[in-house]
Amino acid sequence: MARAQLSPMSKMQVGKCRVCGRIRELSREHVPPQAAFNKGLRRLYVGEQVLRNNSLPWKLDELKPTTYQNGIKFPTLCVQCNGDTANWYVKQFAYFITEARNSAIIAAEKKLLSPGASVPLCFREIHPLEVLKEVVTMFASVNHPDFFDRNSRLRDFVLNPLLMGLPAESYRIGAYIAEGKISKYNGVQSIFHLSTGSARTVSELTAPPLGFVLELNPDYSTHFPYWDITFFASSFHPGQAANISINVPVIENNTPFPLDHRSRLDVSLQAMRNSSSPFDSRGFGPPRNL
Ligand SMILES: [Zn+2]
Repeated sequence: MARAQLSPMSKMQVGKCRVCGRIRELSREHVPPQAAFNKGLRRLYVGEQVLRNNSLPWKLDELKPTTYQNGIKFPTLCVQCNGDTANWYVKQFAYFITEARNSAIIAAEKKLLSPGASVPLCFREIHPLEVLKEVVTMFASVNHPDFFDRNSRLRDFVLNPLLMGLPAESYRIGAYIAEGKISKYNGVQSIFHLSTGSARTVSELTAPPLGFVLELNPDYSTHFPYWDITFFASSFHPGQAANISINVPVIENNTPFPLDHRSRLDVSLQAMRNSSSPFDSRGFGPPRNL
């Protein structure tokens, strides 16, 4: 009965904590937090798997997903960072998501929740600084273990609950209402615009009712169709509550690409244009209008 004698700790995976950077036993971190509606059966498909599949990206019947029985979680944070960030930020983030969801339900009842629309969200007594710190923590979990080594300001921002501000020349964070049920976990990728030669470096994390975009070294002249929440870092003190009412864009996700919010019709039409055969739907992406 040796297995029964293993302590829970000894079953943990050892690796580099995405937040503090130390080599430690890693606990399994819910992304987003379990309290933010990340519960129940979840299926996760890897992007390459979807791209290799000879079908449109939402037709996943032939693929084998990784199945999670009670929310999606990754072994990404050490026990201390998991516990600290949970204590400091998760309650406020979960409340923020609950407020967003309540507003989105009202909008859906009024038939307002369609892609391209902008929907009023009403947040009462939220704690914006703590919310943003949890968003940055989640971006750590979906990115490479070295991500915070290269972005030490983000590490400091998460590990010090009292630290305010993020440099605008380095980071821009947006939020949107995610239409549908698809979640998306994109680590940092560079997207090149062939016609202009410009590039964007972004990470995207979508978990309905909201999606979040982190842009590195942002060009503020570039279209950014999201609710810019970077000001949460500089305009609110630790523990400060605020009421915020704002119109937030409704955006859909139908492919594994970051910043790709084309409709299924647009994706299908592009697939047909790019494919030699009308029955070959692999040419669906990536988008050309970033
Ligand atoms: Zn850690």
